[in-house]
Amino acid sequence: MTFITDSSIVETAAPDGRRCAFITGITGQDGSYLTEYLLAQGYIVHGLVRRASMFNRSRIDRIRSTQEYPPERLVLHYGDLSDRTSMRRLLRQIKPREIYHLAGQSHVGLSFEIPEVTCQENGMATLGLLEVLRDLDYPVRFYHAASAEIFGTPKQVPQTEETASNPSNPYGCAKAFATHLCRIYRNAYGLFACSGIAYNHESPRRGENFVTRKITIGAARIKAGHQSVLHLGNLNSRRDWGYAPEYVDAMWKMLQAEKPHDYVLATGKTCSIREFTSAAFLALGMELVFEGEGVDEVGRCSSTGQLVIKIDPRYFRLVDSSDLVGDASLAGRTLNWTPKVVGVEVARLMAVADHEQLQGNAIQSP
Ligand code: NDP
Repeated sequence: MTFITDSSIVETAAPDGRRCAFITGITGQDGSYLTEYLLAQGYIVHGLVRRASMFNRSRIDRIRSTQEYPPERLVLHYGDLSDRTSMRRLLRQIKPREIYHLAGQSHVGLSFEIPEVTCQENGMATLGLLEVLRDLDYPVRFYHAASAEIFGTPKQVPQTEETASNPSNPYGCAKAFATHLCRIYRNAYGLFACSGIAYNHESPRRGENFVTRKITIGAARIKAGHQSVLHLGNLNSRRDWGYAPEYVDAMWKMLQAEKPHDYVLATGKTCSIREFTSAAFLALGMELVFEGEGVDEVGRCSSTGQLVIKIDPRYFRLVDSSDLVGDASLAGRTLNWTPKVVGVEVARLMAVADHEQLQGNAIQSP
């Protein structure tokens, strides 16, 4: 892995004709899986990394540590979505043929706390990138990480590419703005720009402030005796949960298609937080039983009676929609993409990975 910290020109037109991709958000969950996916296919991968007071590259450091790829195959560049000048300069230097734009403020709940940053990063920064692409003197294919949150409180269940956007939080609103702009730039300027309207996808690399990861880490810690109780919000919330590595496959397929198009990326099935939690605990040998109602509901370990789940209203969403479930049949037909790891299965594999991690058995988190 090479880190470019000055303005040295990066020669990316590989003599052997290898393909070159640029990823914003390379240090995130999806960015790290996508990097591995593209490297395995022979790509040269360039990634945007923002400066932080601590290193924020733990998800991709694992790739370097395997020493499977020479440093010139994975090149990191300091930058920030908000710095359009440096984005323009980078793209002119790197000349990637594929851009995967994954960076942004990705936490729905937090978007109520930091709405301006959320709209700046998820909305305006995408517009800025599209403007940069308009001026490039080489052809490029652009993937935009859109979200099911653009449907918010949907008028149609399940949702398809034709469902009207009706966001119910600042995050969804910003993603809807950017999704419309991608379509507009595609139609108006002929850009190969597409949005993957992705539903929740999780993995052992999910950020620890997302509820799924909070549950699986909590289950592992309770199992190990490091924590006694896990506090959760609305147990009845339902989500269409898939497995992140399968979603990066869809991103790549979208950019290999003959024509640019937006696609819903979803499993088509939902499960509740209660079901997800039960599956995570069960994977570690703890069967849960729930009793009580509303904020008084609790979850106990059936064999020991230990109280392990409590409700904390602080985690209730201001607006919560359980109707978000996607119909990915267009992606199935056109891209031959069908997710296989769904809902409680994702919970199981995340819980086992967190348990392994805690026990120090994980050679490398999956
Ligand atoms: P993560 O939160 O794991 O990763 C977000 C990435 O964006 C990180 O690399 C982060 O950098 C980077 N980033 C944030 N702000 C900036 C900025 N101003 N400049 C440069 N980089 C920035 O998200 P995921 O990998 O889970 O998701 C990828 C994308 O897909 C996001 O846009 C998300 O909104 C979208 N999405 C995700 C879904 C999911 O279920 N995972 C569902 C639908 C859409 P750093 O590491 O420094 O924080």
